[in-house]
Amino acid sequence: MKYINKAHMPDDADARRGVPPVICYPTDSLPTTGASILDTARQSLEKIDEVLVPPREARCFEVPAGHFFRIVSVDGSQVGDLNLWQANNLDERFYAGKTRALHGTHLSTGDRLWSSFPFMRPLARITYDTLDWYGWDDDGGSVHDVIGTRCDPYTAKLLADVDYHHCCHSNLIRALADHRQLDFAVAEPLVHDVLNVFMCTGFTHDTHQYFMKASPVRPGDFLEFFAETDLLGGLSACPGGDCSAEHSSDVARCYPLLVELFKSNEPALADYQPLAPSGYGRQHQDV
Ligand SMILES: [Zn+2]
Repeated sequence: MKYINKAHMPDDADARRGVPPVICYPTDSLPTTGASILDTARQSLEKIDEVLVPPREARCFEVPAGHFFRIVSVDGSQVGDLNLWQANNLDERFYAGKTRALHGTHLSTGDRLWSSFPFMRPLARITYDTLDWYGWDDDGGSVHDVIGTRCDPYTAKLLADVDYHHCCHSNLIRALADHRQLDFAVAEPLVHDVLNVFMCTGFTHDTHQYFMKASPVRPGDFLEFFAETDLLGGLSACPGGDCSAEHSSDVARCYPLLVELFKSNEPALADYQPLAPSGYGRQHQDV
């Protein structure tokens, strides 16, 4: 928490604080390839597969470029931690921090999930969100954040001195290792900061600390994505359940999450081509 030292307060403190904020990364110039046809394309979705993620576990799933997938709430209010990789190169993975810098702390329809350097291209676009009515509550909370990283056994050990093996971090490691036949030591560095699907979070008004509150998600709600590249997804049904009380333990009531895969019969998507990775040449100096 930030300590305010009034002894250092300059005479013009109010003036310095009063300058207007400037958006760091205006998004008007982002490439819009494919955006115009997605509304039409999602009218002709045909379900081709599904993967059920058990409570306190994770599962991986593959989504070809140009297909759609949904994360669906089933049975009860449950939060999910989502990882995305470019299916043919796991070094290219979801970059929650830059996605946050571009689109804000919480995502919804129209926002894209960007990949890591040096690739820096959209992996997926959110095309439908049944929780888009929620907006911002009086606590400053909203849903689907890209601020919370993921629950993990290292922080649990640090704060509570427990060895808990069903945090989303470990769940995602086991799922990725199983799906791609990798050792845990290879899989762990590939697991990354998540999109917290359905989770309701924010920063407290007074101390600006990260908080969670009971998710508003109910069975039947879903978040839908368009795959902008060939994707490998990993989804953990967080041990926090609806995250109304605690995570990193077996205390909360947990439910499964369903991943549904769809192809679209929209002809314009038949030969969908992903955007190329960033064109920056990686010189990092004047030549
Ligand atoms: Zn979690």
